Amino acid sequence: MLKDEKAIVVFSGGQDSTTCLFWALKTFKEVEAVTFNYNQRHKLEIECAKEIANDLNVRYHLLDMNLLNQLAPNALTRADIEIKEGEDGELPSTFVPGRNLIFLSFAAILASQVGAKHIITGVCETDFSGYPDCRDAFVKSLNVSINLSMDKEFVIHTPLMWLDKAETWGLADDLNALEYVREKTLTCYNGIIGDGCGECPSCKLRKNGLDNYLLKRI
Ligand SMILES: [Zn+2]
Repeated sequence: MLKDEKAIVVFSGGQDSTTCLFWALKTFKEVEAVTFNYNQRHKLEIECAKEIANDLNVRYHLLDMNLLNQLAPNALTRADIEIKEGEDGELPSTFVPGRNLIFLSFAAILASQVGAKHIITGVCETDFSGYPDCRDAFVKSLNVSINLSMDKEFVIHTPLMWLDKAETWGLADDLNALEYVREKTLTCYNGIIGDGCGECPSCKLRKNGLDNYLLKRI
């Protein structure tokens, strides 16, 4: 039974990973969260993640991933690079090459240290922002590689993989966490907690999803 097992949630303090954290708390006996610090544009992201982990009584790990910033300057890590959506098959300026490869691999190393079998990530192919490392095939392939590399049987869970943003809000609602996720999480590229700036691509996606969900809910 999953209820007897331990899980690590890759956690950024945003809508998706917070919903995953609530999902994990309902699914597993013991849950810990890990945030990666790669000098993301908003330090507030980390404060926000810590606060949520604290609220939910979850053991919290913060791992230093500054090397990622050193290797991959991009709109999420450098204030002087503009946030742009990808055009003509290009990746958006927010893409950090190798980010989920690195994060999930380090999450697995942490999982092996704390005795967790399950790793949860909020990646999603449906509202896919053009990031190749959010695809199901990538996650499944990495799961195999990680297990081979450590001779373990980790299971990477992606509860949001096939949900659109409205359905992700629905999942939060099913977990009795809609208001919490709405008020406490940070997804805005301009660093505004909750409903955000309303203008950036991330806020637009979040708001459209919420509006669609609330329309259907009534
Ligand atoms: Zn915003």
